[in-house]
Amino acid sequence: LPRDFELARPVLQTIERAGYEAYFVGGSVRDTILGKSIHDVDIATSAYPDEIKHLFKRTVDTGIEHGTVMILDHGTGYETTTFRSESTYTDFRRPDHVTFVRSLAEDLKRRDFTINALAMRENGEVIDLFDGLTDLKKHHIRAVGDPQERFHEDALRMMRAVRFASQLDFDIVPATEAAMTDHAALLAKIAVERTQVELLKMLMGRTPQRGLTVMLSTQLWRYCPDFAQQETALTRLAQVLTHGVSSEVTAWALLSLSFGFDHGQTATFLKHWKTSNQVITDVQAVVTAAQILQTQDLAAWQLYQCGQARSLLANEVAVILGAPDRTTALTQAAAALPIHDKREVALTGKDLMQAGIQPGPQLGQVLAVLERQVVTGQVANQKAALLTQALTLVNMK
Ligand code: ATP
Ligand code: MG
Repeated sequence: LPRDFELARPVLQTIERAGYEAYFVGGSVRDTILGKSIHDVDIATSAYPDEIKHLFKRTVDTGIEHGTVMILDHGTGYETTTFRSESTYTDFRRPDHVTFVRSLAEDLKRRDFTINALAMRENGEVIDLFDGLTDLKKHHIRAVGDPQERFHEDALRMMRAVRFASQLDFDIVPATEAAMTDHAALLAKIAVERTQVELLKMLMGRTPQRGLTVMLSTQLWRYCPDFAQQETALTRLAQVLTHGVSSEVTAWALLSLSFGFDHGQTATFLKHWKTSNQVITDVQAVVTAAQILQTQDLAAWQLYQCGQARSLLANEVAVILGAPDRTTALTQAAAALPIHDKREVALTGKDLMQAGIQPGPQLGQVLAVLERQVVTGQVANQKAALLTQALTLVNMK
């Protein structure tokens, strides 16, 4: 058993000693069997939330209406969820209500894919009701039960299939993929924030080529915000994106540049996907820099405005789209910049006023010109030199 499971064993043992069942479930079991590292341990139990809260000293109600309680008694927090059956879906997204059940089989039956429907006892024994172990071995993604029903119930599962295909480098089995093609249009009913999570995990996964190829073959791409006109761009990406991108910003910048979006279109695109304003600003800067990097190095002022970190993301985007890798040049150029921030200019507004320049818009303009001239090496970042330059600028007006 991996260390994270060993550490969580006392939690399962406490629940079992009280007469309930408790299992490790979900991605941590799948990834453990695949020999991958795990990031969070999920526990499923027959005990109801109130019963769990009686068994442990320190708990937090993280999602009690869904049956989830966080147990804090053993240092790390462990999310424990009561077995549920989710039966009625009327809007293709979330179950109308959650029903707690006492049977593990009921709980596993509602899970999305066979590889995600494995449970593991505290002693390491695996419960495999849907032949998930065979699918894990064969690298297959297969819906639990009737795929048509499962995607009709919850259309997000189609994007989850795409995401796992990329993350795990697995094949979606034909019947499951066919059901995705049949239900692709239902993706439009899913909250875009939820689709976004899966899209980004797919693009950051091991083989985004696979994910994109499935999105194209099943038509899922048509139901993603602002993708409708982009079949050619997505097809090209499906050919060139041979490994996962490093960050969310890279992912969006790659899409935006591939789609040929300008500054304004990039903002609209990302607003439709409901990203944060910080992401929009970062992506715009990265797209601008990546566009230049496709044919040449960044000039000092461009690099200064973009910042070193974002310029490296821009380089990542440009390289994916076929440009030479300019990492070394960018790193050296960034190190050679005289300043990296406005606040490093060796002359302030106060200095200018003391030299007799009136406060007002002109003062700001002078400082902006000086900042640019320092960055581009036209004037030394030194008070006396900057003051002389400032007075020249003012007299020129
Ligand atoms: P990750 O490693 O990315 O966390 P995961 O498999 O743990 O992958 P989660 O989104 O954390 O994915 O979900 C935990 C488990 O809950 C899944 O393994 C699956 O059994 C179940 N699950 C999650 N979302 C759905 C869904 N939309 N429909 C059915 N089952 C789901
Ligand atoms: Mg998980």
